[in-house]
Formats: sequence, structure tokens, C-alpha cells
Amino acid sequence: MRFANHDGLPVVIDGDEVIELVDRDSPVDFVGAIAAWPTYRDALATRPRRAFDPKLLGPPVPRPGKVVGAPVNYLDHKAEMNVDFTVAGLGFFLKSPSSIVGCDGEVPIPFPGRRTDQEAELGVVIGRRAVDVTKQEALDHVFGYTCLLDITVRGSEERSTRKSFPGFTPIGSWITTADEIPDPNALRVRGWVNGNLRQDAPTSDMIYDVAALIEFMSSVIALEPGDVIATGTPAGVGPIMPGDIVRVEIEGVSSIEIPVVDATREPHEVWQTKED
Ligand code: MN
Repeated sequence: MRFANHDGLPVVIDGDEVIELVDRDSPVDFVGAIAAWPTYRDALATRPRRAFDPKLLGPPVPRPGKVVGAPVNYLDHKAEMNVDFTVAGLGFFLKSPSSIVGCDGEVPIPFPGRRTDQEAELGVVIGRRAVDVTKQEALDHVFGYTCLLDITVRGSEERSTRKSFPGFTPIGSWITTADEIPDPNALRVRGWVNGNLRQDAPTSDMIYDVAALIEFMSSVIALEPGDVIATGTPAGVGPIMPGDIVRVEIEGVSSIEIPVVDATREPHEVWQTKED
């Protein structure tokens, strides 16, 4: 099923209609809908329908508890970045949950003098709390999969600093539930900028596959419903500029297209001023 944010409500997309999971006058809680997904799924037949309008889509999890990222999880990306370590030596990083936007959002460029890149990635959304789970158990904790952009200012500051501006984690346009994706390591991730294909790789190229990432991450932190994992990017990252259109597509999962806009600001002193 396709779980989405339609006109601010959690819905399931069903052809040219959406099925609204909660009433318009009740509190809206996307993380809660994901945490109690079996209950919502089983009630779908009783829920109201309305016309699906793609222009009303927003981020399918607007405010996850956390966004956990895998650095350098593809060997071809390690080569293009000319770095010594992979996820196996680096561990993981956290992005601010406030960096999440949907296909209705924008990617800001805060410092035009600093290189800012697109990173097309498979996004994993956790459905059941995961603490110290094994690889064999890991996929049972996944709610679904989505397209994700891990927007990144290049440089030597901490990853969390360079990756956490509002708008730096577009996800969507919807989440395809895990029951429809038997093997998340057999997907094709593609990323375009202005229609030019920059990234095209199978998720089987990941150094730590989805289950291994969940095993590793859950050995440190409690992964909770709604949490989003950025699984790492293959080769082909490159600069994006205001006016660009970035697109990610993962066959069988979803696609997202989002504009890049100027958001120039004065760098705080922590930011290096040199170009890179
Ligand atoms: Mn990344």
C-alpha cells in the first residue's frame, strides 16, 4: 500500500482516490498512525474516501523522532569522495528531524560559496521499535520504503551540521509498505538533476544492506516507529544550484521531485569560508 500525507492527513492512496486514516477534526499523528498501522489498515474499509490530488501531497512522516544516516555505504561513492572509511568504520550520523520536507517543499541553498550536493537514497521507515535486533529479525521492524534526498554541504564540519538545514531531507512522495517490498536489496535507485541522470545503482551495492544497517543502528539507539533511515548514496553526487529540479525514483517504491531555491544567509563563524 501507499501511505501518504494528503492535505495534511495520513492516507492510503488507492488509484485515483485516497482513504483517510483519521477524522479531520481529530488530532493528526503520522507517527502514531505508523506505530498502530495494523489497526488502521484493518479499518480501511470503514474509512472515508476522497479524490487523490498529487498537489496536496506532503511529507509522509512530517516529523519523525529521528533521522539516522549511513555515511559512505556504497564503494563507488567512497571512490568518488576519495575517503578512507566506509560505514563500517564511521558508524552512523543523525540528521535533524526538522530537515524533513515532502514533494511540496523546497531544498534551500544557504551558502552559494560552498558546494551543496544531492544524494539520492533509499529511505527506510521504521514500524516497530527495534533494539538490539539481529539481521534476521530486522526487516520485521520496517514499516515501509520511500525515496529520500540526503542534501549535504560538503566540507569538514560534522555531518549533522552540514546535513540538517530545514529542507535538507526531502522524503516521499509516499511510503510503500514493506509487505510489497520483499527484498529491499533488489531495488534500483536513480537520481536526476534537471532531467540529467546522475545516479543509477542497485541497492544490492550497499556495503551494509538494509537489515545490516538496522542491526547495527539498533545496537546503539532505539529505533522507533516513524524513524527514518537514510541508507547511503551511490556514486554520482554533485552540486545543486537554485533553480535546479532534483528527482529521485525507486521502481516499485515511489518517486519525488523537488525544486532547489536560493536561501542565502550569512555563515555563522563555525562555517569555513573557503570554497570546496
Ligand atoms: Mn547520504
